[in-house]
Amino acid sequence: MIFAKKSLGQNFLKDKSALDAIIEAGKISNEDIILEIGPGEGALTSLLLAKAGKVIAVEKDDRLIPILKEKFSKEIGSGKLELIHEDILNTQIKNLNLEKGEYKIIANIPYYITGELTRIFLESDFYPNTIVFLVQKEVAERIIDEKGSILSVSIKAYGTPEYIKTVKAGSFVPAPNVDSAILAIYDISKKQFETAQITEKDFFTVVKTGFAHKRKILSSNLKELFDPDKIETTWTELNIDKNERAEQITIEKWFEITKKLICGNITV
Ligand code: SAM
Repeated sequence: MIFAKKSLGQNFLKDKSALDAIIEAGKISNEDIILEIGPGEGALTSLLLAKAGKVIAVEKDDRLIPILKEKFSKEIGSGKLELIHEDILNTQIKNLNLEKGEYKIIANIPYYITGELTRIFLESDFYPNTIVFLVQKEVAERIIDEKGSILSVSIKAYGTPEYIKTVKAGSFVPAPNVDSAILAIYDISKKQFETAQITEKDFFTVVKTGFAHKRKILSSNLKELFDPDKIETTWTELNIDKNERAEQITIEKWFEITKKLICGNITV
């Protein structure tokens, strides 16, 4: 086993039941193409290869590449595993030859890149149909909450998050400071934007402005961008309490609010 680098978020998953739960949450068929980010020493990769049609694994750590090449020489030779030595945050998704809605991301990634990676892949033109990630337990709980944070709203705008299972800190080597959870995001698409006929850019402008100042109520935050009368009319039409805060708004309401407010009314 290699010396784990903290800077690369290396906490290797050793618990077989957790690894099996990740695979099960992926609902993998032998036709599936899986993108695994951070294969590490290949614990999850082996299980993915046993179920999927093809696995593309992107690993940043130089030291792990020869280990993975040796461990999976047969699968790399047959083309079943494509091993890419890169930083996923610098990878051009379009160069991975993945088709929109036609692949799954299943990975145990470093926690500090969860938010950024989720955003990059959900917003991409080449988005996956499913994501299964390990995240900090509290983050997973906040994401599946009916209302919540910017991350939660952003995820629900594209798909359906599901809390699969808690994974105790002791399941990893080295053990992180907090417990984790397997989080799945199913049915990823841009359908909600198409149905509401609003752009992702407009939607996130409203959401980010709405969450901008934690202490303020939602309407006060939105006054930075929209006419107060328009906000008041919208609140009446959508039956929203005037003291409502951003974290109390459901995903359906965010789409309705954006649609009503955005009609030519951004003042900046
Ligand atoms: N999948 C393995 C497991 O479950 O045991 C390793 C998980 S470990 C939490 C995270 C892995 O992601 C490490 O192998 C690390 O080197 C890799 N990694 C970290 N940052 C990365 C990045 N930006 N791009 C690609 N891989 C990265």
